[in-house]
Amino acid sequence: MKAPITRRKSLLVAAAAALALTLSACGGSSGSNPSPVQKPSFAAGSSMEKLANAGTIKIGTKFDQPLFGQKGLDGKPVGFDVEIGKAIAAKLGIAADKIEWVETVSANRESFIEQGRVDLVIATYTINDARKQKVDFAGPYYEAGQALLVNKSDSSITKPEDVKGKKVCSVTGSTPAKTIVEKYGAELVPAATYTACLEPLRNKQVVAVTTDNVILAGYVDKEPDAFKLASDQTFTKEPYGIGLKKGDTAFRSWINDQLEAFAKDDTYKKAWESTAGKVIKTVPSLPKIDRY
Ligand code: GLU
Repeated sequence: MKAPITRRKSLLVAAAAALALTLSACGGSSGSNPSPVQKPSFAAGSSMEKLANAGTIKIGTKFDQPLFGQKGLDGKPVGFDVEIGKAIAAKLGIAADKIEWVETVSANRESFIEQGRVDLVIATYTINDARKQKVDFAGPYYEAGQALLVNKSDSSITKPEDVKGKKVCSVTGSTPAKTIVEKYGAELVPAATYTACLEPLRNKQVVAVTTDNVILAGYVDKEPDAFKLASDQTFTKEPYGIGLKKGDTAFRSWINDQLEAFAKDDTYKKAWESTAGKVIKTVPSLPKIDRY
């Protein structure tokens, strides 16, 4: 027997609501859409003016890192880096749906900036002197630290010294890959992305995966029965910056101003709480901006 029409309608509404919930739980929602500033004005010839006039911006981010930059079911990335990107674009008068997201992996971030394939890189991107030879950084907007991900059943590894001479997976071109080899004597098994390190870990082809604690925390959150962090301690400092073309000081300084404003008006806090903050509960405060 058919349910009466009103009841059928409410069943449909309930089913649609359940689907919406499922989609957002799977990362199907494309996050916030901050209102763009209407007709912002910038110095003639500045990158800000050019981007505002173009009405679009190309931002490089990760496409497969939970919590920071991960492509959702609608094809748009979600995460803390993505929220920071949207907030910056809004200050240029560019709406979230006008941002062109470009996948950048650890190894191609400098070259994508140098070649102008992206205007900015916001991609768990550690500021360091070697990279500063090629690109400039606004920020830092967050400070992570290197850690180790191991199989849940493994209690033999608790610190980086424990992986000496052992196979560890990390990503080509990343700071953790360099550190685990040069400082701790691990044998690197390189991959293009961190997600590609998970199967080798599960199959015990490597004893650990190493990168920033907050990236690894996203994988533990997805598979708490399979993986764990070797320890709560981190063993490096990884200050995340926003990469841009070397020498564009006006743009860098303007982005730094925006980051400071986001910390004051709660944009920063909301960006965290709606993304990484779902797993990492402590809301960070904006680190001191390095206006070098
Ligand atoms: N923050 C580190 C880096 O920039 C590791 C994370 C990553 O590879 O994106 O290399």
